[in-house]
Amino acid sequence: MLDVILKPERDRSVRRRHPWVLSGAVERVEGASEPGAWARVVAAGGETLGFGHWSPVSQIRVRMLRLGETAPGDDWIAERIAAAVARRAGDPLLGDTDAVRLVNAEGDGLPGLVVDRYADLLVVRISTAGMHVRSKLVADALRRETGAAVAIERPDAAAARREGIAVQQGVLWGEPPAAPVEIRERERRYRVDVSAGQKTGFYLDQRDSRDLVQQLARGRRVLDLFSYTGGFAVAAAHGGAASIALVESSAEALAAAEQHLAPWHDTLPLRFARDDAFRFVRQDDHGYDLLVVDPPPLARRASDVAQASRAYKDVLLHALRRAAPGAYLLAFSCSHHVGPELFRKIAFGASLDAGRPLQVLRALGAPADHPVALDHPEGHYLSGLLLRA
Ligand code: SAH
Repeated sequence: MLDVILKPERDRSVRRRHPWVLSGAVERVEGASEPGAWARVVAAGGETLGFGHWSPVSQIRVRMLRLGETAPGDDWIAERIAAAVARRAGDPLLGDTDAVRLVNAEGDGLPGLVVDRYADLLVVRISTAGMHVRSKLVADALRRETGAAVAIERPDAAAARREGIAVQQGVLWGEPPAAPVEIRERERRYRVDVSAGQKTGFYLDQRDSRDLVQQLARGRRVLDLFSYTGGFAVAAAHGGAASIALVESSAEALAAAEQHLAPWHDTLPLRFARDDAFRFVRQDDHGYDLLVVDPPPLARRASDVAQASRAYKDVLLHALRRAAPGAYLLAFSCSHHVGPELFRKIAFGASLDAGRPLQVLRALGAPADHPVALDHPEGHYLSGLLLRA
């Protein structure tokens, strides 16, 4: 254990339960320790504020895991994993599905750890030195608590660089399947490529909005922009859409979407466009009654916000021009830096420029298996709106 002593006046953030101690708040470090070791965080006056994992390379020097004077051991992590898994079991907010996020990092009091369950397989993403050095303990706890047959680790390359850790794609236990994993979400079925797909393979965070699309789709001409493997399109097909167009730049993702929609190939007009969605919406001349606009994170840093706002507005504006009267539009930002307030302003800008007043029907976001701690606003990233033209 080492002591991390904070500068005078720089203890406020920890006292407000924020889980990150930034390098600029650290006065000095006493004792030597390996990356990922437990660190005791001490106020300038000598008071012990709490304990966390030490990350000497990262700008975030300590990730707090426990506040107060009692030092935790590694069993603290196993207990938190057990609690996170138990919270999902039978959670009425999740509904009928075998694909859930079991651990959502700071949102579950476990900075550096994300775990998604796809049927009988877990995908584990470790993004801090603290979790990296404890990957065996993490794996043991997950195996005990879930009984899953297989677990693989998917590296988060950007985080590994920030933390100076070497994470590799690997098997934690079990025999990884050669084919994609089949998951079930309500009556929807998806095949998830857990080793090569985006993120951990599937956008579990859009589950609630998929339900909404399914609810709204009857008789509507649907446009699924930035479709990935067609999560929304499958929901629209189940909901009785009149036609569906998907636009996606990744050939692999679009091929998976075609497979997902195979049951409807003969009965539903489907269009699969491998294209730049920003370009597609400018050139397309079809009308739509239900439009989903779900771009990748356009602002990864605060300094990207102005440019990202223009890109969001641009794609919304052109999507709106394709929207029939009474059309529903589900629009999303998955950048923390473009949050709900700014996103409303961007949508308003698009509405003004398109000459199309819009009604806000609902604010959209990530479902209950992606909890965000109020202490940690940075954990919020998905902002969306259900709009009516
Ligand atoms: N709606 C999807 C998730 C979208 S993630 C779902 O719910 O599963 C964003 C997607 O946009 C990714 O699949 C990415 O490959 C794709 N993408 C990124 N830039 C693009 C562009 N310029 N044009 C079209 N697709 C793009």
